[in-house]
Amino acid sequence: MSEVLEVKNLKLYYRTLAGIVRAVDEVSFTLRERETLAIIGESGCGKTSLSRALIRFLPRNVYEFSGSIRLDGIEVMKLSDAEFDKQIRWKKIAYVTQAAINSLNPVIKVVDHLIEPLVLHTNMSKNEAIERAREVIKKVGIAEDFLWRYPFELSGGMRQRVVIALSIITNPRVVILDEPTSALDVMTQANIMNLLKELKNNENLSFIFITHDIAVSSELSDKVAVMYAGQIVELGSAEKIYTDPLHPYSKGLLGSVPRIHTDKQVVFIPGTPPSLINPPSGCRFYPRCPQAMPICEKTPPPVIATGPEDYVRCWLYAEK
Ligand code: SF4
Repeated sequence: MSEVLEVKNLKLYYRTLAGIVRAVDEVSFTLRERETLAIIGESGCGKTSLSRALIRFLPRNVYEFSGSIRLDGIEVMKLSDAEFDKQIRWKKIAYVTQAAINSLNPVIKVVDHLIEPLVLHTNMSKNEAIERAREVIKKVGIAEDFLWRYPFELSGGMRQRVVIALSIITNPRVVILDEPTSALDVMTQANIMNLLKELKNNENLSFIFITHDIAVSSELSDKVAVMYAGQIVELGSAEKIYTDPLHPYSKGLLGSVPRIHTDKQVVFIPGTPPSLINPPSGCRFYPRCPQAMPICEKTPPPVIATGPEDYVRCWLYAEK
């Protein structure tokens, strides 16, 4: 499978009254066609800032936005905002926010929600856009006649399906879903996860899931990036990360998931993530790490390759 997205040394810093917030700091990863990457980590670790950097939904107080984002062969960091808006956003990469399910206007029909990005961002006529809406609504498991209903007439699960239809209607290469199931009850979550699996297998799409829910990410992902304090501390195949994580933070995060069919104790990571304004000068996980060594306190850990595209950011794996 060829690479569809390659991110290298991406930084997104914000200027605030309290100082410079390093929300995304030297993040690198690749995503291939039909691959699903889960980005996991505690709240405030930079997951949402990373997705906003990829779709270039940036606030006004950006202090630094640098690095490389190659999407479908295009270096998008070289594009102006207007060029990005015209060539990339929705056409090549789509983003569904956590709040999207509640942001469907209740008095605008489903069909009008769906055709809007096509009419605004492609050359399609209104009739062609309606045809595409008919096609996509079926793909997300909703009967065609629901196109002519209003969002307030739909259940939460159906509205989430409409939101997913919206994210794929312009035929992007990459879809970023920020906490796609967190607002749903358990049964609806399972249905949506099945839908996402179907789309992943049947459509030529690559997904990035931003989630704090390890169960969701383990169901859907091919590979996993564990984020901590604005950085990816471990990147690897889902199988590797879920069965044999290397980084002490990955181990702690996975150990904190309750499991029914095991005697293993649930482990909590003591302390809280550091400030992104003044992170520790060495390893950012140092104050909470059960395996910390003297070198970790003052010297940032190197990025150690653990596979052709995989890595861990930790002194434990540096050559002695
Ligand atoms: S670099 Fe040191 S402090 Fe950081 S995770 Fe590895 S062992 Fe722990």
